Amino acid sequence: MFRHILIVLSHLALLGHSADWCYDHEECAPSHWYLHYPSCGLSSQSPINIITANTVADSSLGPIVVEGSDATSEGELTNNGHSVEVTLTSKYTLSGAGLTDAYTLAGFHIHFGNSNPTFGGSEHQINGNAFPLEVHFVFYNSIYIDLTEAKQQSDGLAVVGVLFQIGSFNSALDHFLGQLSQVAYSGQKTSVQANLRKFLPAKIGYYFKYNGSLTTPTCSENVTWLVAGNVQPISLSQYTQIISNLYFSLPGAANPVPMLDNFRPTQPLNGRTVSVYRK
Ligand SMILES: [Zn+2]
Repeated sequence: MFRHILIVLSHLALLGHSADWCYDHEECAPSHWYLHYPSCGLSSQSPINIITANTVADSSLGPIVVEGSDATSEGELTNNGHSVEVTLTSKYTLSGAGLTDAYTLAGFHIHFGNSNPTFGGSEHQINGNAFPLEVHFVFYNSIYIDLTEAKQQSDGLAVVGVLFQIGSFNSALDHFLGQLSQVAYSGQKTSVQANLRKFLPAKIGYYFKYNGSLTTPTCSENVTWLVAGNVQPISLSQYTQIISNLYFSLPGAANPVPMLDNFRPTQPLNGRTVSVYRK
């Protein structure tokens, strides 16, 4: 037992990681996740490549509706060792989009690439095109007490994905980009202000919808995915802030591993329908 613990500890120290899954080392990379997390090997996984010619128009879905404050909210920015995530004190609710229930925002986090933004970084692709940044707004079904309980339920989660490409300066991102250096290492947190409205308008009238999974272990297949059809801009200098300030590693790691390419490769569609709503 003790020897086993030592082996695990030395393994983690070697990797400089705080968990048994990762993006950047072969032995814990996405292709191996299913070994510890069997759901990652199931057949309705995310992300996917959305082939627009194969999507099914469904005008009955209606727009995505996000209700909540228009004001800037207090929140917390955390490096969780795989991404940076923001939680807000203001409450936001997701409905519409053919959802049976209302969903409550738990927080949002980012997936991104490396110093070559043309190389990709988003999780979802559209017609085989990856984007340098994707933001995931994670909502849990409001009939459950919290995210932890909802994660155990088949109708527990809905995630809105927003894709970004290099372009103009994006004021919505600036509230927290300037704070990234304070959460450089895994486990670090800082207070932050964010205006969700600038990211996520009250109505989204163009999106793709399909049934999939969490894109990180446990890869549970209980996520209604809503991927916004309109790609948003981020300036190159803002993108550079993201890729140059963060590490996967714990504070004090001898050779900290830069947080780059924290996206899962696209997964097979396996006959699932991808709906599209466009007002
Ligand atoms: Zn995500």
